Amino acid sequence: MKVRFWGTRGSLPSPLGARAVEAKIVNALVKGAGAGLDSEAKARAFVAEHLSFAERGTYGGNSSCVQIDLGGPEYLICDLGSGAREFSLSTLAKGGPSKPQTYHVLVSHVHWDHIMGFPFFVPAYIPGNRIKLYSCHAKLEEAIRGQHKGPCFPVEFETLGATIEFVTLEPGRRTDIAGASVTGFAQLHGNDSYGYRIERDGKAVVYSTDAEHKPEDTAETARAAAFFADADLVIFDAMYSLAESVSIKEDWGHSSNVLGVELCQMAGAKQLCLFHHEPVNDDARIDAILAETIRFEEITRTGAALKICAAYDGLVIEV
Ligand SMILES: [Zn+2]
Ligand SMILES: [Zn+2]
Repeated sequence: MKVRFWGTRGSLPSPLGARAVEAKIVNALVKGAGAGLDSEAKARAFVAEHLSFAERGTYGGNSSCVQIDLGGPEYLICDLGSGAREFSLSTLAKGGPSKPQTYHVLVSHVHWDHIMGFPFFVPAYIPGNRIKLYSCHAKLEEAIRGQHKGPCFPVEFETLGATIEFVTLEPGRRTDIAGASVTGFAQLHGNDSYGYRIERDGKAVVYSTDAEHKPEDTAETARAAAFFADADLVIFDAMYSLAESVSIKEDWGHSSNVLGVELCQMAGAKQLCLFHHEPVNDDARIDAILAETIRFEEITRTGAALKICAAYDGLVIEV
């Protein structure tokens, strides 16, 4: 499976502003002064070797959308945040707008940042396309139809050209979707949220966003660790620091990088991907959180090493 991230920001899209872009350019020019960067190849090599990710790139601004590329003709994605628009355009560019496609979408929950991309999901407007929206969340159809109503949006759901179906999943029960085995998992979050474990050919990816974990609730922690068990990749809601998640932002429905490491260590997972970044955190802060998380894993490691990365729009992870 190839996991492609189209939207990685939590709560709302957070695009990089002109001043932030200029600051990155100024910093790169100063660092590259005297390095003889008189060709594109030399400049690219310098950028790759001497600039941190925050200095050379950005974690991105779109809200949640993750593609699970199963290599087959049908598409599978998790969530319909603003990143779903770019995902949908990429599929049209690949297949051409007139080629009918089938899209399978797992929706974690119906908070706006996870469904706001659907009105801009271009294949929904094209007759011949088939879109199947799956969720354990009981209000999925109501929420998707509701955001197409005026005065907030001018195109009524009923006028969309594609064939759109809603499928309610039962937590804990395996369902075959696009050739993968998918199991849902109830998570602690305001208005409910569900994680999904996606398995295929002996590999497992867990998509677990918008989930609060309370370290003192040992039964719940064990339940989450069992859901993550031996996963090749866990995409994890690491919106807050541990200090925030157990103090001022307790009960806000999100988790921390530290709890992500602890749960993955308990579960024997192989890779942790920090996801649903707090909009307040700039690229340098997310770089720092990633470095702190890697250090925390090293000093608390008891078994095999856990690989850790921070999701960004455009990241691809192969499992
Ligand atoms: Zn969210
Ligand atoms: Zn949410």
